[in-house]
Amino acid sequence: MNSLRAEEEASLKGGDDAVAWVKEDLCIGCDQCTIVCDDDAIELFDKPLASSIMKVEVNRKARVLREPCTGCKLCVLACPTDAIIMIDR
Ligand code: SF4
Ligand code: SF4
Repeated sequence: MNSLRAEEEASLKGGDDAVAWVKEDLCIGCDQCTIVCDDDAIELFDKPLASSIMKVEVNRKARVLREPCTGCKLCVLACPTDAIIMIDR
């Protein structure tokens, strides 16, 4: 399993040509990505919850700011739900 993870990490795009992207559906607003991002390229925002069944009114979601993102991939490795991917800039 670990070697699979290592392979995945090695195959991730990165650097100047790549930028991180948050898949909102998978994001649980845990703040790990903003903690590891040295470039202040991720912010959390409140998103109204689609279902009224749950007793919270908003979900926190992360979003990447394209300009400051350096493509370092730290956020991808830190995200517990694999909500962040690297895409072409
Ligand atoms: S790839 Fe690096 S610079 Fe870009 S958002 Fe993730 S941690 Fe920040
Ligand atoms: S680390 Fe992942 S789940 Fe946590 S706030 Fe960032 S994108 Fe969302």
